[in-house]
Amino acid sequence: MPTPQLVWLRRDLRLADHPALAAANHPLLVYIHAPQEETPWEPGAASHWWLHHSLTALDADLARRGSRLIRRSGPSAAALLALCRATGATTIHATRLHEPATRARDRAVAERLQAEGITLILHEGALLLPPEAIVSAAGTPYRVFTPYWRSLQTQLTATPPRPAPARLPAPPGDLASEPLAAWGLLPRLNWADGFTTHWQPGEAGGQQQLERFLEAALCGYGAGRDRPALAATSRLSPHLHFGELTPRQLLAAVTAEPRCEADKESYLRELAWREFAHYLLHHLPHTAEQPLDRRFEQFPWRADDGSLLRAWQRGETGIPLVDAGMRELWQTGWQHNRVRMVVGSFLTKNLRLPWQAGARWFWQTLVDADLANNSLGWQWIAGCGADAAPYFRIFNPVLQGEKFDPAGVYLRRYLPELAQLPDRFIHRPWALPAREVTRLGFQLGRDYPAPIVDLARSREEALAAWKGLGRGP
Ligand SMILES: Cc1cc2nc3c(=O)[nH]c(=O)nc-3n(C[C@H](O)[C@H](O)[C@H](O)COP(=O)(O)OP(=O)(O)OC[C@H]3O[C@@H](n4cnc5c(N)ncnc54)[C@H](O)[C@@H]3O)c2cc1C
Repeated sequence: MPTPQLVWLRRDLRLADHPALAAANHPLLVYIHAPQEETPWEPGAASHWWLHHSLTALDADLARRGSRLIRRSGPSAAALLALCRATGATTIHATRLHEPATRARDRAVAERLQAEGITLILHEGALLLPPEAIVSAAGTPYRVFTPYWRSLQTQLTATPPRPAPARLPAPPGDLASEPLAAWGLLPRLNWADGFTTHWQPGEAGGQQQLERFLEAALCGYGAGRDRPALAATSRLSPHLHFGELTPRQLLAAVTAEPRCEADKESYLRELAWREFAHYLLHHLPHTAEQPLDRRFEQFPWRADDGSLLRAWQRGETGIPLVDAGMRELWQTGWQHNRVRMVVGSFLTKNLRLPWQAGARWFWQTLVDADLANNSLGWQWIAGCGADAAPYFRIFNPVLQGEKFDPAGVYLRRYLPELAQLPDRFIHRPWALPAREVTRLGFQLGRDYPAPIVDLARSREEALAAWKGLGRGP
């Protein structure tokens, strides 16, 4: 048997368009479970649910090609060394990651392996372009999206992605692999059971979702993407996060569509936000924890005994669009982008709770939890990040709901207790006229919570707190 090379899979759980796999001679595919190496951002519970199913799907894909996945537990360096000794491999291929912890881990692993005569080669593959490829005229990283996007566009070429190999070598029969069940990735509570009705983790699931999107939603994406009741966005974010699909595959597939140029542009622009988020985290690694605008370190967040945060997490704030969004998140592991902005604005501005608390909850509950995108999203909505929404732009969740979910279809899906309210009042149940209260037998505070904050007053308080930072409009 030829000397094998290892392919160390991390968040590249696919076989097609895989530069690290393509570069390996006689590849043996390895996944090492070492969540503590990503501290302080070990994958959350929803991510672990996804990972369990994605690894299962990958193993089945490998079996169809005559191979299997070798699973080991960390520390990664020790596990890789043991595998190299067992197989004679002296080269390991992997896809480059961009989070501060995974970068530091990969550097340490490479050094440890080097000392034993083993080479770790990192390949590009998670992004459209490496973060070093785009610099401003001043030679520094961009902090504003539009010039970044313009520069990215000039460098992009859609090339046909490499297909998955038809066959892959089988690892030696006696090379042990740990049972996936032993890792305990599935949550003990039945909270995530319903996720399977919304998601099919794995490469095939991602491809099918991409085809559905191209067929049914790409045309109309530009207008539909803000309507949370519609299946008008691609819902590919978890597949992208786990590397089951690559942004290059999406670029190629979207570019090849012969219609709807404006919608295509609009979609690629969103994909570029993902790219921008990873670019920023690469160049500004502290932004997962600390505000990019350092003045926000002094921001007077509200003292909370935990009850406001809990009401937000549970979707019991008494503000319908916020509550529907938080229940969508809990029930499906995902939340519509427009609603992410609304619940984020409500948490950081109306409740005046720190964006990091929101980011942590999303981290546990989103199947697409992604350190770069989540940090950018939260800092953007809190007003302290790169190219952020200005702090004084505080989303009014009632007006947002009336604009983007005018008939309350999204609200009724997640808030059955409001289903009988007329469209005119479903976004503001506290304004229901007395005769309607009597007719419907609906009682605020009993059937649905009264708002936990006054929207107008909390808005004024947030603006005053922000002006205190010395940056009023
Ligand atoms: C507070 C907040 C937190 C967020 N946390 C995450 C997160 O943890 N993980 C995550 O993937 N996205 C996050 N986002 C971004 C965005 O909401 C999701 O990427 C999007 O809703 C995923 O749905 P989709 O695949 O249908 O998106 P589509 O509209 O189909 O967009 C296509 C792809 O572009 C990327 N994208 C779209 N919008 C953004 C954006 N604003 N920032 C970065 N990338 C984007 C995603 O990879 C997405 O799959 C967050 C946004 C906010 C406001």
